[in-house]
Amino acid sequence: MVTERMADLSRRVSIIVAGGGLTGACAAMAAAQKGKDVLLVERSGMLGGLATSGLMTALIASGRCFGGYGPEFVRELHRRGATDPAHCRGHSWVPYQNEPMKRLLDEKVLAAGVDLLLYTSVVQVRKEGRRLAGIVLANQEGLEEIAADVFIDATGDGILSVLAGEDFECGDPDGRTQAPTMVAYYADVDMDRCFREAEPYGGFYPLLNGLLPLAVRDGFIPEPDPHHPGPFPIGDGLVVVNAGHVFGADCLSGRGLTDATIRGRKLAYGYYQFYKKYVPGFEKAVFVTTGSVLGVRETRRILGRHVLRYQDKVDCRRFEDGVMGYDGGPGSDVHASSASPGDYEAYADLYKPLQEEHTSGIATLPYRTLLARHADNLLVAGRCLSADRKVQGHLRVIGYCMMMGQVMGLAAAQSLDEGKAPDAIGIRPLQAELQDLGIL
Ligand SMILES: Cc1cc2nc3c(=O)[nH]c(=O)nc-3n(C[C@H](O)[C@H](O)[C@H](O)COP(=O)(O)OP(=O)(O)OC[C@H]3O[C@@H](n4cnc5c(N)ncnc54)[C@H](O)[C@@H]3O)c2cc1C
Repeated sequence: MVTERMADLSRRVSIIVAGGGLTGACAAMAAAQKGKDVLLVERSGMLGGLATSGLMTALIASGRCFGGYGPEFVRELHRRGATDPAHCRGHSWVPYQNEPMKRLLDEKVLAAGVDLLLYTSVVQVRKEGRRLAGIVLANQEGLEEIAADVFIDATGDGILSVLAGEDFECGDPDGRTQAPTMVAYYADVDMDRCFREAEPYGGFYPLLNGLLPLAVRDGFIPEPDPHHPGPFPIGDGLVVVNAGHVFGADCLSGRGLTDATIRGRKLAYGYYQFYKKYVPGFEKAVFVTTGSVLGVRETRRILGRHVLRYQDKVDCRRFEDGVMGYDGGPGSDVHASSASPGDYEAYADLYKPLQEEHTSGIATLPYRTLLARHADNLLVAGRCLSADRKVQGHLRVIGYCMMMGQVMGLAAAQSLDEGKAPDAIGIRPLQAELQDLGIL
């Protein structure tokens, strides 16, 4: 029966978006708002990906290149009381509560006319020459194959692309990736008192870093982590905590992810014990929850028709087929793979320029970066962008993922309008639209 359903390819849509993180949700909305028939397939029970199920901390975006859906989302999060405005920095740092973000995404995606399928995974593809013809979905009803004209891989891990035979890189030359983090929410925290009491120590981080050795001494955490981002206020008494790093995780295997997730949960609880015992303002803290998935920073980087290089960012390079602006100049956020001082110093050296006043120019992301090498009707971006790891570290944040998604959705819609594969569309009309939206 399943085989018959797979064989006849009876169901067809115009565009399939695999993965409903912020990249995929924005891609699907952009194409559906152009009147296209779009199916968005998400394996979990919610939209938002890491930005919701991973309990991500803040919506990070460039202060200078942030257009399209992003600013609208930020306004709506503020309006719904999902942020603590005293701790936001314009558009560029917006710590938000997770639940309102989930509902906002539900509303926006459905209002755009997207056909949304949750609890459904893409598990296989059918490829005919250089074209993807269909994908196989798995859910409560078993397996089903659906055909489409254009496919968008927004799975974060590049799963659709890998199933379709695309090449990828992962981690540094030794295959080591940025350590993941299990994010947690603690409630009943008096952050104002915490900040006040930290003043004599020179601020919150000097106080925290002075206390953290006690967490190792008491056995709350297994090893020192020189980079503990800590808690960020997101509401009355509520903080989101980036609870350390799960070093040595293998996030490309089922076993590895299982092990890392369990270690991450344990770490999040260990940090909670530490905060409650030692950090002022946390005495009455309640441990609310951890993310329903581990916060994975880095796995595959799919090799598209162009691979963006860190030097392109440093040089503020603007490409002829640029489709998205981003902050050029030095600096990126590539978390350490291990707790070794050398790895931490490499992280800190690369991160430092980001904290300095931005005086560099704007670089652009070339359209070819979004195009799969071995399939003419497949676009791929988001966390698994075709980029080296230093520039991936910069562009993996939510603000840029939203813009990349919107670019892919608009490109897919234009390819249907022009009756051409995405790699053959006229770039100028796309660029003009993206300029109007403030994305380019
Ligand atoms: C610990 C941590 C902290 C971070 N902090 C911040 C921060 O403060 N601010 C910020 O802006 N960014 C932050 N980031 C980065 C950012 O959250 C992510 O890089 C970004 O949200 C990735 O978006 P995405 O849509 O590309 O991928 P994802 O969010 O990973 O979404 C991919 C989606 O695809 C789905 N999927 C996967 N495989 C399949 C399949 N086979 N079939 C169907 N669906 C599938 C997944 O379930 C998921 O929903 C952080 C990341 C981590 C890990």
